[in-house]
Amino acid sequence: MEIVSLNPSNGMAVGKVGVTALDDVSSLVDVGIEAQARWGRMRVDERISLLTKGFYAVEQSADELAKLLSLEMGKDIRRSMGEVMGCAQGGQYLAAEVKEAIQSEKLPGGVTVEYCPHGVVGVISPWNYPLAMANNLIVPALVSGNTVVFKPSEETPLIAQDYVKILNQFLPEGVLQIIYGGKDVGVALVESNVSMIAFTGSMAAGKDIMRRASGSVKRLIMELGGNDPMIVLDDSVVEAAARFAVASSFENAGQMCTSTERVYVDEKIADVFEERVVEIARQYKIGPWDMPTVNIGPIINEKQRDKVIAHIQDAVEKGAKLRLGGEDHPDHFIRPTVITETPPDALMESEETFGPVVSISRFERVEEAIQRANGTEYGLGAVVFGSESRAREVGRRLIAGMVGINGGPGAGHAPWVGAKQSGFGYHGSIAGHRQFTQLRVLG
Ligand code: NAD
Repeated sequence: MEIVSLNPSNGMAVGKVGVTALDDVSSLVDVGIEAQARWGRMRVDERISLLTKGFYAVEQSADELAKLLSLEMGKDIRRSMGEVMGCAQGGQYLAAEVKEAIQSEKLPGGVTVEYCPHGVVGVISPWNYPLAMANNLIVPALVSGNTVVFKPSEETPLIAQDYVKILNQFLPEGVLQIIYGGKDVGVALVESNVSMIAFTGSMAAGKDIMRRASGSVKRLIMELGGNDPMIVLDDSVVEAAARFAVASSFENAGQMCTSTERVYVDEKIADVFEERVVEIARQYKIGPWDMPTVNIGPIINEKQRDKVIAHIQDAVEKGAKLRLGGEDHPDHFIRPTVITETPPDALMESEETFGPVVSISRFERVEEAIQRANGTEYGLGAVVFGSESRAREVGRRLIAGMVGINGGPGAGHAPWVGAKQSGFGYHGSIAGHRQFTQLRVLG
């Protein structure tokens, strides 16, 4: 069986890979277990040195990798180049940070806390940032002495394949293996002898993984979906808030876990805010990865595109006003869309839309906005615009792992973390890196 990877801008084949046979998954994990015995005993500096050589080679191949990433996933070439270089250069920084995190610690009384590898980590990743999301989990797993069996998304197997090929010119055999397929191959990995699953993807898949992993109490890191709210207080800099609302809703064609999905604006400034949002959004251009002026690429596949259109239609049927786009979309794309007066019972209030849509509702009292912002199962990111002190005060009342004040949520060196059903465990930061290790208290 094969996966034919399609260019989401035109549906043309980019290339293909063979699907890993389900029976082979556990033998590959066994290879990883054997390799881990040697890899885990290496000095951490040696592991980092091999990875660094790999990252240098990735950098040398950045042009070809970025083009393949664009062809397969659809984002424009500048963004793809940023993602490739971010993995190569950010990966080196990340590796050094992990080294610091896993140093043994001597406690008073002669007891030592050691950070030991788990064994084999199954890394399962999505298609929206096909390299970055995988790299963020693969690097801490490998540096802390685990080996990895990596299952990329079935939408983006080719870029993952090339990336792994480059790193494997430097890593010992069995340290980083790749398997291909959809859900069933992911399930086989979860049910294999891996010690840990580090997963980034949807909430539904995350729940299934938790259930299956419970049989042998596998360690888990789950970075799941979001439905991020943005609250715009009446003392916001309206221009900055409007620009952020559009940029964050449209980033990566809206296919970003922390993209803004719901905007709540104080009615006192709503007229001018909404007008600016529409004017700014109107300037965004849809198109394929190599169109020089493109801001919004294609939607990854037909199913996802149908979902975005269904969410727009649902909101309008329930009384929302369509202020821009929203209908007559060309094949493979969604026009930049702005909706106002989105009612609380619209699907996009409670579910992740994952498309280039700014959805705005007004509020009279901040309490209402906080209640609506917190009223979903999700809790990944959130954003508040307003005067620093008021925005912080409101931000502290939002149930989200990462709350951005007058800017996007999350920071490079901080934990990347979801609250409620948007995550379980987390990566990033000293505490996040340590989740890739088993603590041993010695003495
Ligand atoms: P998805 O859950 O459909 O698939 C993700 C990966 O999991 C794929 O490799 C898929 O084959 C595999 N998979 C699916 N079901 C599985 C199962 N039951 N067991 C094992 N593996 C399984 O998600 P997607 O459509 O690829 O990605 C988009 C989703 O990812 C969105 O919900 C987005 O918010 C989320 N995401 C979250 C973050 C974060 O940091 N929190 C980052 C990026 C994307």
